[in-house]
Amino acid sequence: MKIAFFSTKPYDREFFEKENEKYGFELHFFETHLGPHIVNAIENEDAVCVFVNDKLNRNVIEILAKKGVKYIALRCAGFNNVDLQAAKDFNIQVCRVPAYSPEAVAEHAMAMLLTLNRKTHKAYNRVREQNFALNGLLGFNLYQKKIGVVGTGKIGKAFVKIALGFGAEVIAYDIYPDETLINLGVKYVALETLFMESDIISLHCPLTADNHYLINKESIDKMKYGVTIINTSRGNLINTNDAIQALKTKKIGLLGIDVYEQEEKLFFKDLSATIIDDDTIQLLLSFPNVLVTAHQAFFTKEALEQISQRTLKSIDDLIKKGTTDPEVLL
Ligand code: NAD
Repeated sequence: MKIAFFSTKPYDREFFEKENEKYGFELHFFETHLGPHIVNAIENEDAVCVFVNDKLNRNVIEILAKKGVKYIALRCAGFNNVDLQAAKDFNIQVCRVPAYSPEAVAEHAMAMLLTLNRKTHKAYNRVREQNFALNGLLGFNLYQKKIGVVGTGKIGKAFVKIALGFGAEVIAYDIYPDETLINLGVKYVALETLFMESDIISLHCPLTADNHYLINKESIDKMKYGVTIINTSRGNLINTNDAIQALKTKKIGLLGIDVYEQEEKLFFKDLSATIIDDDTIQLLLSFPNVLVTAHQAFFTKEALEQISQRTLKSIDDLIKKGTTDPEVLL
């Protein structure tokens, strides 16, 4: 069994090679994305393992099929980058990792909130320069603040529990309210109420056709002056230009984003020696009250272990049984 991995980083290799000790598959790692530019170079692979920015359109899938590839394994939850109908038409089975350590993302969201609020990133640098002054480092208690959580699925729920641990009051909006959270004291409210009442808003819903630019001028106008917004979900949930305007007027007091509208061109790459042709991110990075991380919320040892375990088990199941757990198959 030969599997070609695309968009790989050293950490992918480390975790997959370790997990593969159980299976003994032949793994080939490529740094490049999988797409039309490289697909013709694939030879003698039974499966391809891809990530969020690999582009598997009909043309790519047709060539994969001609080359004998029988399985596409996504080592992520989202699958908007794969033409599933084409995979079906060319008889290629597709699997993914629907859930891996929701706590990893929830804990990162809280880390962003704490960093922005208590300014530990600035304090770290300041003290190293022997500047022990506190001016400019003033934060606020999370205790008794109102935190609004949009989307209380696996990650949102983990985040709510962390927030409750801080003694915050949590209000939430979800199409399907969660009984266990209601029992923990969470109040589900209308989205508009959440915007109006929250001191802090954390986004944990998927990006859908309905909630594109959920955070825009109109919704920001409803929010409290100085509101904190944290987004670890998807970049297109926020209209970045509207957020920038609101940062300028101080309507948004703190903004933490692990995802960004144009992240495809930037994230997961070392561009430190490059001129970045994206004025929006450059402007965002110039604000002292904005924290950007590069889609790293999932990035824990536990999550990478779960991703490699689930992916190789799915491929093993597909070879041996022709199927695997239904929630994994697409
Ligand atoms: P999930 O499916 O368990 O939960 C999503 C919740 O959102 C569900 O309860 C659903 O009812 C609710 N929802 C759907 N549409 C909504 C809407 N329009 N408004 C409010 N709520 C809505 O998903 P999850 O595992 O909790 O993941 C949530 C999101 O986190 C993912 O969609 C993904 O975008 C993001 N994510 C980010 C990272 C990262 O590293 N930054 C990693 C994994 C997932």
